[in-house]
Amino acid sequence: MTRLLLRGADHLLTMDDARRELRGADVLIDGGVIREIGVALRADATVIDVSGCVVTPGLVNTHHHLYQSLTRAVPAAQDALLFGWLNVLYPIWARFTPDHMFTSAQVGLAELALSGCTLSSDHLYLYPNGTRLEDTIHAAAEIGLRFQPTRGAMSIGRSQGGLPPDSLVEPEGDILDDCIRVIDAFHDPAPGSLCRVGVAPCSPFSVSRDLMRQAAVLARDKGVMLHTHLAENDEDIAYSQEKFGCRPGQYAQDLGWVGPDVWHAHCVKLDAAEIALFAETGTGVAHCPCSNCRLGSGIAPVAAMRRAGVPVGLGVDGSASNDAGNLVSEARQAMLLQRVAQGADAMSAREALEIATRGGADVLGRPECGRIAVGARADIAVWDVSGIASAGSWDPAALLLAGPTTVRDLIVEGREVVRDGHIQTLDLRALIARQTALAQQLMAQL
Ligand SMILES: [Zn+2]
Repeated sequence: MTRLLLRGADHLLTMDDARRELRGADVLIDGGVIREIGVALRADATVIDVSGCVVTPGLVNTHHHLYQSLTRAVPAAQDALLFGWLNVLYPIWARFTPDHMFTSAQVGLAELALSGCTLSSDHLYLYPNGTRLEDTIHAAAEIGLRFQPTRGAMSIGRSQGGLPPDSLVEPEGDILDDCIRVIDAFHDPAPGSLCRVGVAPCSPFSVSRDLMRQAAVLARDKGVMLHTHLAENDEDIAYSQEKFGCRPGQYAQDLGWVGPDVWHAHCVKLDAAEIALFAETGTGVAHCPCSNCRLGSGIAPVAAMRRAGVPVGLGVDGSASNDAGNLVSEARQAMLLQRVAQGADAMSAREALEIATRGGADVLGRPECGRIAVGARADIAVWDVSGIASAGSWDPAALLLAGPTTVRDLIVEGREVVRDGHIQTLDLRALIARQTALAQQLMAQL
């Protein structure tokens, strides 16, 4: 494997345990791992000049539904609340085929890569027309991003009092069998793994209590992580209290859905007792500020969660509720939204970047990612701060205040995925053309 030497970063934001910031520093990468950090390093390696740049760890996306990049800005869903929004979109998603899943995943991942993301999870919870989790796994492998796909599921259809149409739900036995199949086929527990599979029933309002419990048992038996949506908005809390007689935190705890191997998306409405429960058990949270704003869900108590010690990462959420998928812009939104609720000192640009890097890596059970430290995986984002977005900045390292929203270079496991602003592993124009054609077909079918 090529050895790379990043030479002379204006600012190196390491996000290491001491949160060191180095000036004029080099980073030596070898075999997918960061070998050395320092000034004027000597090595037999391909040199990449990063002067004029801020260098950060690759950003980590902890929550996404990549398939939704084919349903951005659907008119009838633009101004709806969560449950109404789902009811507009379910019939469109029911038409998806393996080609829709693969193409939309590539679009979502390419957008993430250009915005600094080196590791993304995905939550795919509907499987119409022969679609399978590996449609997205192949898409990620082709681009070269580190991927954490989760086998999602819905089992309670409308005829049983659930929200999704019956055509999008699956029998619970089939769901568990397919979880085992995809874990056995694709999950790689190695330290440099580019694919770790998780188990992820969609939400407490689309699967049974029994499936939640069995999914947790299965995940622990296989040594994989658990993920779902939790406490997203007021309707969600009301549903939990009416159907289960308790708040979502209690429901999660009763079914084995707390612990360092579990992360929940949103958690906008966690109360003080639930925050304490998550902190005590090491249960992670995927904070999705744009989606929460877009769907009017509220402001997640992220500052309180972090003070209590809850592991918090960042997620763009699906492109039907964002509708962008730019991860560094999402980090800026996280910073701004805490300030709306708590004042200008509630979250700094550096803290939001920390959540977006090592915070997310820890939530996904990958502490070897998300920081630039000797021995860490070589996942690195290079931001050119010599352009218009940073011109006049007194502190270019405060990247989320004034800085570019796309990377110059992106390195994943020691390989260049983006160079000079261009993805190296696919033809982006051809991909956009394919995605546009598929979206137009879906519109024509309405
Ligand atoms: Zn989601």
